[in-house]
Amino acid sequence: MIQLPTSLVDILRWRAKHQPDRLAYRYLQNGEREEIILNYVELDKRARAIGALLQANTRPKERALLLLPPGPDFIAAFWGCLYARVIAIPAYPLHPARLEKMLPNILRIISDATPAVALLTTSLFDAVQTSDICRDKFADIKLLPTDHPDKTSLAEKWQEQLIDPNELAFLQYTSGSTFSPKGVMVNHRNLIHNLGQIEKHFGQSSESHAVIWLPPYHDMGLVGGILQPLYSGYPSTLIPYTLFLQQPFRWLDAISHFRGTTSGGPNFAYELCLRKIKPEQREQLDLSSWEVAFNGAEPIHQNTIQRFAEYFSPSGFHQNSFLPCYGLAEATLMVSGGPKKRSLQVRKLSRTALERDHSISSPASMEDEWKIVGCGQVPLEQQVIVVNTETLSPCPRGQVGEIWVSGPNIAPGYWNNPAATNESFGAKLSLNSDRTYLRTGDAGFLDDGELFITGRLKNLIIISGKNHYANDIEQTASNSHPAIMPSGLAAFSVQEDDGEKLIIIAEIHRDQDLCKKEEITKAIKTAVSTCHDLQVHDIKITCAGSIPRTTSGKIRHFICRKQYLADALNPLNPT
Ligand code: ATP
Ligand code: MG
Repeated sequence: MIQLPTSLVDILRWRAKHQPDRLAYRYLQNGEREEIILNYVELDKRARAIGALLQANTRPKERALLLLPPGPDFIAAFWGCLYARVIAIPAYPLHPARLEKMLPNILRIISDATPAVALLTTSLFDAVQTSDICRDKFADIKLLPTDHPDKTSLAEKWQEQLIDPNELAFLQYTSGSTFSPKGVMVNHRNLIHNLGQIEKHFGQSSESHAVIWLPPYHDMGLVGGILQPLYSGYPSTLIPYTLFLQQPFRWLDAISHFRGTTSGGPNFAYELCLRKIKPEQREQLDLSSWEVAFNGAEPIHQNTIQRFAEYFSPSGFHQNSFLPCYGLAEATLMVSGGPKKRSLQVRKLSRTALERDHSISSPASMEDEWKIVGCGQVPLEQQVIVVNTETLSPCPRGQVGEIWVSGPNIAPGYWNNPAATNESFGAKLSLNSDRTYLRTGDAGFLDDGELFITGRLKNLIIISGKNHYANDIEQTASNSHPAIMPSGLAAFSVQEDDGEKLIIIAEIHRDQDLCKKEEITKAIKTAVSTCHDLQVHDIKITCAGSIPRTTSGKIRHFICRKQYLADALNPLNPT
């Protein structure tokens, strides 16, 4: 391998020259066996062609919006941006048939990032041209279809340029769980460092093989699923995420068929498999090659991991393959995770102690026990500290605080947003004022080098002076009745005259008898009262899909609260 690459362009150029025929990406168009193959030399050629197109239409450091659906065109366009030193902006793909409805989200990104060009398919280009509204909104952006360029002749026009490691590679818009998505400025140095850290902590090598259904416009799908394999020199088999959601069996079937070693997603993906994959389908699977089953991006549940490992053990899956990890777009991707093939690290905490004064101690009873899964070790190059947000000093051992991170993978800030950049990326401890940290907004603690996340500070529910974690209450409540959808519950508080009140929204399976509403409400109230000593002020039972979520499926608690207060939350409410 090349020594000290400064950018991913160096790496792909090297692989195209020295390993031209090796598989880079395999895209399963129908989620099963219909495949499109890209090897390194072909990918390099397509990247050069798009790079040349961009060099003819932009100047370095301008922005290019990627409006392509997941797949080889998206991948080639992303690499084309890197080759042209144009800052890529992965975005949720616009569907030609639902253009005007999907427009507001894209317009927010356009007004924030002012892209000079947009890379898109010919069919989307045609749809934009025939819609008056869209034509007008895209008037200042050059629209460049990239699904039909004359690849060979254009590729030869590409001019290689030196890339400074501090140059921006792409803008990663955050998921928008706590506010509108913000554009994290990821530079080449951040990428190279974080990819190196992931390679080491996930134990990846050229022998690995990724199987990825994660959408490429979020950090886990892009950095973990597309860039990491190329960095480490192993292939990635990709499945369109909509086809995974329709039939999760396709995911595990691809791992089984293509002998995938590395694959994963948020906790909900494993739950979905448990709910949808029947024993007779399981019998067709051989999951013995799956060495790294990463689980991150959302709270990780020990219960899910245990049930998944038990259910798929007849298919050769081993529980030690689970690799819980934690990260965020502001840190490029990974803050902690691994090493691989280790037993799960679980801590049993007293909920009462945590709620009272953030302290960590042993539970007094079963009801008081909160099991937290460790999110792995922190790479040596990063520094993670746990901070008391009132005193801005490190928390003593045995106390939960805000997770602060520094290291070469921490991005320089948010695009076009100095105030938010200063607030999140410029944190300093009261005593040691030189070093700046990223404030993650997440609470947790370190134990024996392992990072544990308890939840988001913004979602803390403070009632009668006690701190309750929304994710903890959601987990308790969702286990209280089988009719509740996995991850189908949102807990938040609203201010009433006599203090903060707990509100719960619960989604139930579509095939459930709606008459069970009373029974479900009672089960939730009893569970929350027993485990959290809290009264639920109001419960709304809704059908699946009513809770506001991000495009990556995370609950948007602040929108839930807004919609609840405006009585606009659940048009599907069966009452
Ligand atoms: P926004 O920043 O726009 O509100 P977001 O924080 O969801 O959205 P991402 O960068 O995609 O945007 O997600 C990172 C966040 O996901 C983390 O800050 C953390 O809250 C959550 N997260 C990631 N991994 C884990 C994990 N293992 N356990 C619990 N939470 C996690
Ligand atoms: Mg965030």
